Amino acid sequence: MIVLDNPAAMQAWSLDAHHRGLRVGLVPTMGALHAGHLALVEHARSLADVVVVSIFVNPLQFDRNADFDAYPRTMDTDLAACAAHDVDVVYAPVASTMYPVGFQTTVTPGALGDVLEGAARPGHFKGVTTVVTKLFNATQPTVAVFGDKDFQQLAIIRRMVSDLDMPVRVVAHPTVRDPDGLAMSSRNARLTPEQRAAAVVVPLLLATVRRAYRDGITSCSALRELAIATVANEPLARFEHLDIVDSSTLVEPDVAHDQCRVVTAVWFGDVRLIDNCAITD
Ligand code: AMP
Repeated sequence: MIVLDNPAAMQAWSLDAHHRGLRVGLVPTMGALHAGHLALVEHARSLADVVVVSIFVNPLQFDRNADFDAYPRTMDTDLAACAAHDVDVVYAPVASTMYPVGFQTTVTPGALGDVLEGAARPGHFKGVTTVVTKLFNATQPTVAVFGDKDFQQLAIIRRMVSDLDMPVRVVAHPTVRDPDGLAMSSRNARLTPEQRAAAVVVPLLLATVRRAYRDGITSCSALRELAIATVANEPLARFEHLDIVDSSTLVEPDVAHDQCRVVTAVWFGDVRLIDNCAITD
């Protein structure tokens, strides 16, 4: 396994791989790798000949400096995990090579980037589309694997790849969960044991909405009220939002239907957890 820390070296490696007829698979991450990330790595391996994992905590996509500073950084264990999963290249660029003095060009998503997470975290998705474009340009992937865990991010990246004719196949991987149902996330490491126990309310509220929909409730506001009531039972949780949106437009319909996605964000102390599921899951 090799580790590369700048776009030029990464590009040279990938172009050489393409000349040798190899399909390059990319898994973009911000590190603090867990079993969810590693499932994406395995998925990429099944679709490509060589696998690149990028590790970069992207300052451009954080709306709060405190969140950026507190984001877990575990490069040594990440490198060991990648080596153990037969990753070919870890691309871990330093911020100064990604955003050198004078950097000013960005990629801005359209309407999909303004709602939900984009409304809660202004500028977040512009940071994501910009860094993913840079990661694609550096790694030249044949295929890139993203998690359903970040459902809106996936929708925006699919849209960007289509709109800007990027020659990469985007593949989704289902959300990997702890045994109690909590979606794995690098941010879970920042929860206290009490908050971690309380966080099970997040998959519970999604299950509540799914069950109610199955029982025939289709009013989005009624479904939201049920979710709020579920979170209200957990004193360590602070409900931020729950939305039921059309999977392709991310707009809330008049009444929920089978193509809807349920997306939520809940706070535990200063840790914000997001999760989502298909309403028919
Ligand atoms: P992150 O390091 O949080 O930016 O995530 C990097 C990639 O891993 C993104 O495509 C995420 O959607 C994906 N990911 C993160 N957590 C999970 C999970 N629990 N299950 C599946 N994919 C995940």
